[in-house]
Amino acid sequence: MSKLAINGGSALRTKPFPKWPIWDQHEVENLKQVLESGKWGSLHGDKVKTFSEKYANYHQANYGICVNSGTSALKIALLAAGVNAGQEIILPGYTFIASATAILDAGAIPIFADIDPNTYNIDNDKIEDAITDRTAAIMPVHFGGRPCNMDEINAIAKKHNLKVIEDAAQAWGSEWKNNKVGALGDAGCFSFQSSKNITSAEGGIILTNDEETAKFCRSFANCGRVEGGVWYEHYYLGGNYRMSEFQGAILLAQFERYPELKVRREKNAKYLNEQLSQIEGIEVLKEDENITSNSCHLFIWRYKKEYFNNVPKSKFIDALRKEGFIVSAGYSIPLNIQPLFKNLAFGARGRKVDVGVDYTTFNLPETEKACYDEAIWFPQFVLLGDENDMKDIVNGIIKVKENISELAA
Ligand SMILES: *Cc1c(COP(=O)(O)O)cnc(C)c1O
Repeated sequence: MSKLAINGGSALRTKPFPKWPIWDQHEVENLKQVLESGKWGSLHGDKVKTFSEKYANYHQANYGICVNSGTSALKIALLAAGVNAGQEIILPGYTFIASATAILDAGAIPIFADIDPNTYNIDNDKIEDAITDRTAAIMPVHFGGRPCNMDEINAIAKKHNLKVIEDAAQAWGSEWKNNKVGALGDAGCFSFQSSKNITSAEGGIILTNDEETAKFCRSFANCGRVEGGVWYEHYYLGGNYRMSEFQGAILLAQFERYPELKVRREKNAKYLNEQLSQIEGIEVLKEDENITSNSCHLFIWRYKKEYFNNVPKSKFIDALRKEGFIVSAGYSIPLNIQPLFKNLAFGARGRKVDVGVDYTTFNLPETEKACYDEAIWFPQFVLLGDENDMKDIVNGIIKVKENISELAA
């Protein structure tokens, strides 16, 4: 008789995990206010403005500029940092595609560096090797919510006169040495897309401490208009990247709830780290006392198939899903060998544009290992469960491991 659910056995868990998004009367009330006010756009109402100020304040940043997505935020922040067409930006090879496409959108060229398998963030020792006379900036990604070592990154940037634009799209409230991420470099960008820990379906924000940067971001997002200018007067190339008041209304409610949910995620992540690290063949990411808070957008651990009868990660994940768990294999293709980059398909309708970089020659072994063999993610809403939910996760993994011989390698 098979034990594993994938082979017809009974699933370890039948109860559902918490649902996402979470909302209540606060969202309803705020939305109703916007609807009935007739001030639906952020240039007329005060919801987006209030949220921007609260969010910037929470992150100890002087300025916050809301836009329509995290991707737009990154593009605009790069342009605001003065990045010129054809300049290079260094980022990790293991991140969401938007980190890289925002760079292309800004007219610049992404240069991928490998990650540190202990953090899944950019390997700071690989940054200097990637610097050329075309390099304009470093884009650290606080992956899964885990802050990068910003002391080291800022020091490298200072030494080579580079800008630092943080991709904090997964790191709301994450802290490096008690300082919230986002305004630790020149600017930082967050996302409020549906899957994110604070969401308005779509949306993003740029944080910065620099007044000129903030002014330019605000102008770019508003068709190149300037504060105090005439409505049909446009100073800069820009576009309509504005957020609506409906999004602002939802974000204000989401943000109120955020601290409590954040504590729960961190507590559950700590428990999983303690428990999973005791299972042979599972490696959890490294604790770092400089990380004083982690948004835990993803709970990431490393699967060592040699301890699992050489069963590939994808098969292990399938088995875990059948046992009743929500689990992701994460990115399956390193960014540098995505068709977009392999084919240099940056032009209109995918036409090849030779930017003087051959992406197939990048050597990113740790990124490859993460994509193909090792990285397994639990999404943030799973971490909103209670202690029994977390115990089930641990027991589910143990069950599949103990019966691994049922899964042919
Ligand atoms: C979600 C995300 C983005 C893009 O944000 P959108 O709001 O979806 O445009 C960028 N970088 C990372 C690391 C992300 O997770």
